[in-house]
Amino acid sequence: INLVIIQLILSRVVSMKECVFCKIINKEIPADIVYENSRILAFRDINQVAPVHILLIPKKHIETFLDVKDEDINLLGEIQYTAGKIAKEMGLEKGFRLVGNCNKDAGQLVFHIHYHLLAGREMGWPPG
Ligand code: 5GP
Ligand code: ZN
Repeated sequence: INLVIIQLILSRVVSMKECVFCKIINKEIPADIVYENSRILAFRDINQVAPVHILLIPKKHIETFLDVKDEDINLLGEIQYTAGKIAKEMGLEKGFRLVGNCNKDAGQLVFHIHYHLLAGREMGWPPG
């Protein structure tokens, strides 16, 4: 087997082991879970910047929106669909914002794809 492939697999395993969201998925650290199925997880952000602040993530470890593959299209669609379902269940029809930060300039801190569902107050535009 090619050494480069082995290195790629190893670096992937290491980054998943150190990923805070993978730890939440594996119940190694606690979170206030709002919704869960076999593919996705939604839980409250530890640092709420709006009255409602929920993170929606795929259980698959994908680092950024630049790393999404063709095979992930349904997964991302399901996350957005689930955001709408959660918003309806929580009575947020007045409005919510779904935000996905990618890389440094957008302020991405956790390198496991996530959408922020923000609601419960009026949102400014343009965003900061
Ligand atoms: P980013 O800046 O990457 O788009 O957002 C990462 C978000 O993850 C931040 O809003 C941060 O508060 C949240 N976060 C980081 N660590 C944890 C954690 O251990 N638990 C929870 N619930 N949220 C976290
Ligand atoms: Zn992860």
